Amino acid sequence: MASCPECEATIDLEDEDVEEGQLLDCPECGAELEVVNTNPLELDVVATEEEGEENGEGSW
Ligand SMILES: [Zn+2]
Repeated sequence: MASCPECEATIDLEDEDVEEGQLLDCPECGAELEVVNTNPLELDVVATEEEGEENGEGSW
């Protein structure tokens, strides 16, 4: 059994057929998680790129 690294909610995937690299989201906090290891089951938060405003020299 694994837990969400974000909110530490228990995520029970014992009945699920998960593979390394599989993406899923936490039912509790909605964080996107990646299966980094299947035995033991380990999850990692996928770093989501937030839309930042890249305004450098905006004016001509
Ligand atoms: Zn969570």
